[in-house]
Amino acid sequence: MAPSVLVQDTPSVASDELGQLPNSESSKGYWDENPEPSLLHRSLHQKPLVAVSASGHEITLHNGSRVIDACGGAAVAILGHGNMEVIEATFQQMKQVSYVHTLAYTTTSSEELADLLVGDAPGGLIKAFFVGSGSEANDGAMKLARQFFFEKGETQRTHFIARRQGYHGNTFGSMSLSNNVSRLLPYKDVLLPNVSHVSPCYEYQFRKEGESSVEYVARLAAELDAEFQRVGPGNVIAFVAETVGGATSGCITAEPGYHAAMRDVCWKHGALYILDEIMCGMGRTGSTFAWQQEKDAEGNQVSPDIMTLGKGLGGGYAPIAAIIVNKKVIEVLDRGTGAFNHGHTYQAHPVSCATALAVQKIVHREKLVENCDKMGQVLEGLLREYLGGQKHVGDIRGRGLFYAVEFVQDRESKEPIDTTLNFGYALQKQSLDLGVAVYPGHGTIDGVKGDHIIIAPPYTVNQDQLENIVKILAAAYTMTVKKFNL
Ligand SMILES: *Cc1c(COP(=O)(O)O)cnc(C)c1O
Repeated sequence: MAPSVLVQDTPSVASDELGQLPNSESSKGYWDENPEPSLLHRSLHQKPLVAVSASGHEITLHNGSRVIDACGGAAVAILGHGNMEVIEATFQQMKQVSYVHTLAYTTTSSEELADLLVGDAPGGLIKAFFVGSGSEANDGAMKLARQFFFEKGETQRTHFIARRQGYHGNTFGSMSLSNNVSRLLPYKDVLLPNVSHVSPCYEYQFRKEGESSVEYVARLAAELDAEFQRVGPGNVIAFVAETVGGATSGCITAEPGYHAAMRDVCWKHGALYILDEIMCGMGRTGSTFAWQQEKDAEGNQVSPDIMTLGKGLGGGYAPIAAIIVNKKVIEVLDRGTGAFNHGHTYQAHPVSCATALAVQKIVHREKLVENCDKMGQVLEGLLREYLGGQKHVGDIRGRGLFYAVEFVQDRESKEPIDTTLNFGYALQKQSLDLGVAVYPGHGTIDGVKGDHIIIAPPYTVNQDQLENIVKILAAAYTMTVKKFNL
């Protein structure tokens, strides 16, 4: 059933391993019978694939063809699909307490999940607040940070500084922090006015010729400092950044010393340092929190004042995200009103918490964070071996099981590929047709130009599976380059 080109381009991929390959036809039967769906899909014109079952690393489509999930959706499905232990724990919680309101009640599952995350106060983080999505978590973090200063009497602090090419969500607050040009275009004039953006730490495109890593970091810190000066250093609530960049920029890792330098600028001006680890946190980069690998000059970890988590926290088995709070913030509220002035109907939802707890217990027991580190090195090696020498592969970057490949027209100039080709999405579609799902990005460099794909497989992935994934991806790359005559 596999097209001959797959066999030709990747001689060692056993085509029968993949079974019937998915393609645009794989859900046609379903859409023929249901031509006008009531569900508002992401596109009114294109119908998505219909997933009928999912197990382990594979998703089965309507016509029986299978997809290897090498990105867990958007780096979500950290245990793969259909884990019976998680399903059992979810079912048990539903039977015990399916819902109670946090105004009057708590549940042991939400208490235990919070304990698991901050029970030993990593980096001074001592409290967890659970919500339903990453966007909600970032909105909540913004409110918490504002309340912190309000209670301290620094009510003039109303401004947030985030980074260009950051992604923090789709609600008005989190989208105001984000800087994804195409996504926010229609809303630009109604977003929060009190947010500004500085450069990301994006070494491949933006470190200057002849500039050392240390000089680059110093330049970025100076830029942040200048932004504080511009808006008035005493007016800033917080600087917000993804510890390792996610969907919009494609797994950009910070230069050594970057996070320490940025935090020092924040603290110098009395502002808070907020890290968004919704995509990169919970083990994906090879440590439970990505900031645990960021060090200052003395070798100490650079921990945040507030951190947000999401995606991998529940592994996709339940919608859950978290605001994680440092002692420093809690102490001010404790001496003040004694409450976080915020709340949601579904906060700390018992079922979501029990599900996430089961997911995280498996991660601990099976030492899957260690596997992210180990298999991440394998993934990097394979990407360099199969794609590293290719004409349009500009950069391969990331950490742990969180890697991106950035594509360019020309490796010398790092000029992006003609944006109208939408190379990343075309490659993603081609790869999917060959049976492997990866996560595409467009506008990598500035929101308009640049293309990348992200590989973020389940933490349970092994070497053979990674090899299969990368070989198929390489075949898809070759086919996409040919298709566009690049
Ligand atoms: C996905 C993501 C969000 C938004 O989370 P949602 O659950 O989609 O609202 C925020 N920040 C980062 C870094 C993300 O990757």
